[in-house]
Amino acid sequence: MISIPAIRGELRYNEAMAGHTSWRAGGQADRYCVPVDLDDLATLLRSLPEDENLLWMGLGSNTLIRDGGFRGTVIATQGVMSQLERRENDCVYVGAGVSSAKLARYCASENLSGGEFFAGIPGLVGGALAMNAGAFGGETWRHVVSVETIDRKGEIHQRTPDDYRVAYRSVEGSEGEWFVSALLKFDIDEKASINIKQLLAKRADTQPTGTANCGSVFRNPENDYAARLIEQCGLKGKRIGGAVVSEKHANFIINDQQATAADIENLIELVQKTVKRQTDVDLQTEVKIIGEKRS
Ligand SMILES: Cc1cc2nc3c(=O)[nH]c(=O)nc-3n(C[C@H](O)[C@H](O)[C@H](O)COP(=O)(O)OP(=O)(O)OC[C@H]3O[C@@H](n4cnc5c(N)ncnc54)[C@H](O)[C@@H]3O)c2cc1C
Repeated sequence: MISIPAIRGELRYNEAMAGHTSWRAGGQADRYCVPVDLDDLATLLRSLPEDENLLWMGLGSNTLIRDGGFRGTVIATQGVMSQLERRENDCVYVGAGVSSAKLARYCASENLSGGEFFAGIPGLVGGALAMNAGAFGGETWRHVVSVETIDRKGEIHQRTPDDYRVAYRSVEGSEGEWFVSALLKFDIDEKASINIKQLLAKRADTQPTGTANCGSVFRNPENDYAARLIEQCGLKGKRIGGAVVSEKHANFIINDQQATAADIENLIELVQKTVKRQTDVDLQTEVKIIGEKRS
């Protein structure tokens, strides 16, 4: 067992990760740390062995932890890095631990537009940066002027979009560093808050809100929609154990009866195989599948 010097925040052992993911499934993490602020986080990072497996968690709204759990240390970022302030007239400086919804509301209150799409994305800004989250034509990295990152030694780096390879739901570059904050640029426009209400209503009409899910499971293939292909293959309502393909939105898998992570992963694989067989399209997962299968 590794020893971690005292941090001011919480350190828990054998933490059930089902409580920290929106799919409400999965096994335990060896260690689960909730630092209180950036200094505490830096202390934690410096104290961990260099080869320690790290998993940064926002709200777990794009993550499936397998039933055998995660061997390593989970770093919870909610409530840590919570700065949110206007900068340079049309920019917002936002900590990675702020929720995307709060960022959207803040932009609207400041008469900044372009960030309305963040309102319906149920994660933190760190997760949105890592995933290049987007909706309704908006995308996180279109707004990034710069980001701050932290490495395993607890050192802070300033990065610009040029340091990353950014694509649809994918961000690569600066390996061994994690997002601490971002400077985001928006347009100045008084109508921003009206759009948020319309976008949230549209979401409620088309998505299975109020259920345990992880949003879109698969990336849309070029010039097509994963949901369309899944529906065309007759997979709506397909079930394995407690996991079921949503009747409302075919790219959502719902945990409606205490699904195991294996139920969800097996259903993901079944969808992939069926779609491949019937349409010859390889669906790639958007969700991150992490950890060990139960032996
Ligand atoms: C109902 C529902 C609707 C959704 N709709 C959308 C949508 O419209 N568009 C969309 O893009 N997504 C959508 N999602 C998916 C998800 O909400 C987004 O991907 C979100 O940005 C993930 O944020 P999170 O904090 O929950 O990330 P998590 O699931 O906690 O983490 C996701 C990944 O980011 C990494 N990560 C987290 N924080 C950091 C950090 N600070 N630095 C580096 N890496 C980090 C994690 O290690 C993990 O690999 C939806 C999900 C749900 C449940």
